[in-house]
Amino acid sequence: MTAQPRCPYCRHFMFLDALACANCGAELGYHVPSRQFFGIHTGSVEIDGQRWYACSNRDWACNWLVRDDAPAGRCFSCRLTRTQPAADDTVAMEKLATTEEAKRRLLLQLSDLGLPIRPWYAVPGGLGFDLLSSLSTGTRVTIGHAGGIITLDLAESLDDRREALRVRLGEPYRTMLGHLRHEVGHYYQNVLITDEATWARCRELFGDERASYKDALARHYRFGAPEGWRTSFISEYATMHPWEDFAETFAHYLHITGTLATAAAIGIHLDAATTSLRDTDVIPRESYHGEPVQRLLTDWEWMSQAFNRINRSMGARDLYPFEIVPEVRVKLGFVHELVEGARLTDDELFDVALRHETERA
Ligand SMILES: [Zn+2]
Ligand SMILES: [Zn+2]
Repeated sequence: MTAQPRCPYCRHFMFLDALACANCGAELGYHVPSRQFFGIHTGSVEIDGQRWYACSNRDWACNWLVRDDAPAGRCFSCRLTRTQPAADDTVAMEKLATTEEAKRRLLLQLSDLGLPIRPWYAVPGGLGFDLLSSLSTGTRVTIGHAGGIITLDLAESLDDRREALRVRLGEPYRTMLGHLRHEVGHYYQNVLITDEATWARCRELFGDERASYKDALARHYRFGAPEGWRTSFISEYATMHPWEDFAETFAHYLHITGTLATAAAIGIHLDAATTSLRDTDVIPRESYHGEPVQRLLTDWEWMSQAFNRINRSMGARDLYPFEIVPEVRVKLGFVHELVEGARLTDDELFDVALRHETERA
């Protein structure tokens, strides 16, 4: 869990994807275990008695540091990518760089939440990414998840393409980070629900996931979402199949906790006196670990409204164009409980990370 990352030389604020300090120009790398930036102008840096190097994908904008014994000099995030465009396909590689940035943000959030990340190369069904471009290959790339592997179409990092799809599908929100958060929800549904009693509760809330997916897909693209879907679902896509409802809900859990964590790191809070919102100030937290989901959702209700107002003052679409109705609150509560129940301690997370550093891709 982090405070705001800063330049180690001039203390200037750093965006997570920065390769150099915008203020003093120092070349910097991001050290995941400490969530801090370190200077790497000499090519490497010693942190806690160990030597760390720039990831070998730094030319493609990866700013993570990698321990000296990591295979092929690729960082943990880059090694989770199982398939990527050919190195000479520079157009696709540029799209890969922006997608990898969203993926690193996802991975940091997962580890902030204490969720286990078991790589595809270490365990069967482990998490991995096939990042392909439908533009380069000329073949259709279907975004989805199967057996731990998340497939994304890099062409969607092109604004015109993604925006055209968003409009055609009638979606209020479509981003690469959103795709990642949704697909990783499919992955975690199977990882986090491990006993029959929990599956039974899941089915009560989301429906029976054993229903035919093929039929559901056909029905959804023919008839769309059922009338009155807003009283039970977070999005139209969630209505398609119980799997999609869980993944959409999980994605929103990540949207909400991730955005509140950023607000907390910046120090944003809403003053009850000036906003006359309610009796007490709204103070977002970097972590809602140990908190009831109501606390998370109430903070988000006020904060998302504030963010939407800010966006509108720039003539932009709402930051969070969704409504969380009571049934969806219950589903989010279930996800919160699953995440809390699976939470690894910091020591365990560190152990897992160390183990992965020494496993070969
Ligand atoms: Zn600086
Ligand atoms: Zn990397």
